[in-house]
Amino acid sequence: MTSLPLISVDPDARGRRPAMPPRHLADLDLPGRQALVAELGEPAFRAKQVSNHYFGRLVRDPERMTDLPAATRERLAGELLPTLLTPVRELACDDGATRKALWRLHDGSLVESVLMGYPDRVTVCISSQAGCGMACPFCATGQAGLTRNLSTAEIVDQAVYLAGVAASGVVAGSPPRLSHVVFMGMGEPLANYSRVVAAIRRLVAPAPEGLGLSQRHITVSTVGLVPAIRRLASEDLSVTLALSLHAPDDELRDELVPVNQRWKVSEVLDAAWDYAATTGRRVSIEYAMIKDVNDQPWRADLLGRLLAGKLAHVNLIPLNPTPGSRWDASPKPVEREFVRRLRDAGVSTTVRDTRGREIDGACGQLAAAGDTDGDSRAATA
Ligand code: SF4
Repeated sequence: MTSLPLISVDPDARGRRPAMPPRHLADLDLPGRQALVAELGEPAFRAKQVSNHYFGRLVRDPERMTDLPAATRERLAGELLPTLLTPVRELACDDGATRKALWRLHDGSLVESVLMGYPDRVTVCISSQAGCGMACPFCATGQAGLTRNLSTAEIVDQAVYLAGVAASGVVAGSPPRLSHVVFMGMGEPLANYSRVVAAIRRLVAPAPEGLGLSQRHITVSTVGLVPAIRRLASEDLSVTLALSLHAPDDELRDELVPVNQRWKVSEVLDAAWDYAATTGRRVSIEYAMIKDVNDQPWRADLLGRLLAGKLAHVNLIPLNPTPGSRWDASPKPVEREFVRRLRDAGVSTTVRDTRGREIDGACGQLAAAGDTDGDSRAATA
């Protein structure tokens, strides 16, 4: 059997090369897959056939790839579709409309994804890194630090796997086809820039090259890596940018989102408005409501002044508190007053629904709990 080269990755912060997974067809565009298949001594059109099973039919079992010669099915599937994600736990709540998956990667790292079914759409929230290096103090993922970047295929495979779950019809009352993807799971997507952008290209390419989602149905969140926001604006993609602001003033944001010490609120917002101007997409401003920390009326007014007249929408996120954490969710009357002040300033504002609370639905919580019943979780948004 041919030994597969590892995907080349940037060294981590300590100069070591983390162990990356085997190459998978979702790491490559269609011409890349055709070249690989030719290297394996097979006709190039087999790349299209296997891609159609994986992206078009959501099939990864070689036994079901009956248009491939029986003698080569196993080998081709082994070379092009190595197992990247092993389910550790799958949990459901909200009457089955929210399903959370915890995966073990080839090196033992744990990451998670969430599927959310609505009457008109199915959304998956996916992870872009194992852990996260951004160190937001209210976030479970941020407490453990960064383990490594996910490969393009590890990112894409979360969506493809959960698209298969949706297609199986288990999400009652929702369409069977995955329609929306949000990069709001573990990790800072723009810190894994090239793989995240490649993953977006796979998600939006029509089958058999990709999953065929609309670019407008993809949302990429960021804590505000300004050069990467500007680079994303130049990619000729029209995905939605979600900026995790969490505070309108530098003094508090320096604490809640430590990367603010590098790029201040005004710089981050300037990059966001330039993104909106270039892509025509309204920027989503994410704001976790944390009791007595960032929920004061004057902060609502300041946020309103910063956003008034901009192509922006505020998404307030009730913090998901966990036992033992010093962070708690804002009381509902405080939240309502915050919303009222923003709307009075002319800023479109909604409060995010709190899907999956009973299964540790917020980012990083399931992975923080691992595959034990330990209670080492921290609060997160
Ligand atoms: S909130 Fe997001 S960016 Fe901040 S530490 Fe958690 S996963 Fe990373």
